[in-house]
Amino acid sequence: MQQTFHPTLILGGGFAGLFTALHLSHQNYSHPIILIEQRDRFSFKPLLYELLSGELHSTQVYPRYEELLAGSSVTFVQDTAKSIHPHQRRVTLASGKVCDYSNLVLALGSKTTYFDTPGAAEYAMLFTSGKEAMALRKHLQHRLHQAIQTQDSERRRQLVTVAIIGAGPAGIELACTLADLLPIWYDELGGDADEIRVALVNRSREILKGDVNSHLRCTVQRALKRRVVSVDFLFDAAVTKIHADGVEYRQHEQTQILQAGTIVWTAGTAPNPLLMELPVPNNRGRLVVTPTLQLPDFPEIFAAGDCATDRDHPQPTTAQVAYQQGKAIAHNLKRLEEGKPAIPVQIQMRGTLMKLGLNEGVANLFNKVQIKGQPGHLIREATYLQLLPNSAHNRKVTTEWLTDELFQRHRPFSHMQLGQTPWLYGVATVAAGLILAAPLIWRAAEPMQFQQNLSWTGVPTLLDRLTPPAR
Ligand SMILES: Cc1cc2nc3c(=O)[nH]c(=O)nc-3n(C[C@H](O)[C@H](O)[C@H](O)COP(=O)(O)OP(=O)(O)OC[C@H]3O[C@@H](n4cnc5c(N)ncnc54)[C@H](O)[C@@H]3O)c2cc1C
Repeated sequence: MQQTFHPTLILGGGFAGLFTALHLSHQNYSHPIILIEQRDRFSFKPLLYELLSGELHSTQVYPRYEELLAGSSVTFVQDTAKSIHPHQRRVTLASGKVCDYSNLVLALGSKTTYFDTPGAAEYAMLFTSGKEAMALRKHLQHRLHQAIQTQDSERRRQLVTVAIIGAGPAGIELACTLADLLPIWYDELGGDADEIRVALVNRSREILKGDVNSHLRCTVQRALKRRVVSVDFLFDAAVTKIHADGVEYRQHEQTQILQAGTIVWTAGTAPNPLLMELPVPNNRGRLVVTPTLQLPDFPEIFAAGDCATDRDHPQPTTAQVAYQQGKAIAHNLKRLEEGKPAIPVQIQMRGTLMKLGLNEGVANLFNKVQIKGQPGHLIREATYLQLLPNSAHNRKVTTEWLTDELFQRHRPFSHMQLGQTPWLYGVATVAAGLILAAPLIWRAAEPMQFQQNLSWTGVPTLLDRLTPPAR
C-alpha cells in the first residue's frame, strides 16, 4: 500500500521560502511541497531600485510565482497564514483553509515599523516590494508632471523634493538612485534639474549604523555628494510627524519642517506578529533556531531568513543569507527524508554590494577589497542577475556561477589585509576586470558559440544591455 505523507509547508515566498521550495523541487523530494505566500509576485528586493528606474523589467525583478514555479513540483497557494499550531502540526489560513504538515518552514521575513510616528502610515510611502517600487515610480512621475505645470516656484520646489527617512542601506541606495534619476526625468519634461532635491533624514549622525555595510561609510558619503544633484544629509534629525506635504523633525532642540512632495519611509523593521504568538523563544523578535535551522522544541519546524536567528552564529538580515539558508533547509529536509540527521548550516558571507547611483556601485569582497564606480556597479548587477530565481528554476547551478567566479575563486586573498594594500587592491581590481572582460572577448570572437553556451546564465542578455555588440 502506498504511504501518504502530509506535505511540507513553506510559509512565506521571499528569499528563504522561495529558494527552499525551488531547491527541494530540484532534489526530487518525495513529499508534496506547498508554498503559501500572501502576494502573487516575488520581489527581488536588492534590485527594486532598477525596477523603479526602469533599468530592469518587472518580469525580471518582480515575477509571478505561478511563472517561477511552473514545471516544478511546488504547489503555490496565494493566501495569508493566520495562525500556527505547532502541537497539532497545523496552520490556518485567512481563507479559512486548514493545512496539516509533516514539516514546516517559517520564512515570513519582517515588517515595517513606524515607531508610532504620527502620520507616517498615512503619508509616507514604503519601498520593500515590487508593488511599492512601482507605486513610488508612478508617484514621482506624477509629482514631476505637476511641477512642470506649476508657476509658483516655492510650490514647485516642494513638489520636486523627496525626503527619505532612514540612512540604512535601503535609504542610501534609494537616495543615490533618485539623485541621478529624477534630474534626467525632469529634464526630459523640460524642467530645471537643479530644482530637484533629495534629502536623507536620519536620527543619528552616522549612516549605515549597525549595518553589515557600515565600513563602506566613507565610500557612501562621497557617492552621496557626487550624484547628478548631491544628496542632502539631515543628521541628528528625529522625525516627529509626517504631514501630507512634509516632514516635521527635531534637530538641535528645534522643530523643523522639510516641505516635500514625496516622503519615503525606510527606517525600521519589526518582527512578524504571527511568529510572536508561537510558544518558542525569540531574540528581539527573531525565532531562535539551532545550527541546523530547526526550532529546538519542534525539530520538524525550520525557520530562516529575516525572521530567525542562531544565537551562536548570528547572521545579518540579508538576501544572500536568506538564500543560502533556504538552500540548506532543502538539503536538510532531503536528509531527513532519507533517514539521515540534519546537519549544521554553513553560511558564507561573500562580501556586500551596494548601488550608489545609476551607474555607480560598490562591491565589497570579503570586507577586504572595495571595487567602486562602474566596475562595482557591473559586479553588483551581474551577481544579482545570476541569483534571479528564473535561472534557479532552470537549473540550480546557474544561481551560483558568477557569484562563485567573483567571490569564491579569490578566497585565497581573503585572509590578507587587501583594503590597506594598494597593489593587492590593484590586483583584485584587475582580476575582477578580467572576469568581466573575458565574456566580452568571447562574445566578440565567437558570437554564436557564446550565445549558445551561455544563454542559460543570462550573461549574454546582461552584456548586450550594458555594452551592445558591434554590428
Ligand atoms: C529595498 C531593499 C533592498 C535590499 N537590498 C538588499 C541587498 O542589496 N542585498 C541583500 O543581501 N539584502 C538586501 N535586502 C534585504 C533582503 O531583501 C532581505 O534580507 C531578504 O528579503 C530576507 O528574506 P526573507 O525570505 O527572510 O524575507 P522576505 O524576502 O521579506 O520574504 C518574506 C515573505 O513572507 C511573506 N509573508 C509575510 N507574512 C505572511 C503571511 N502571514 N502569510 C503568507 N505570507 C507572508 C511576504 O509577503 C514575503 O514575500 C534589501 C531589502 C530591501 C527592503
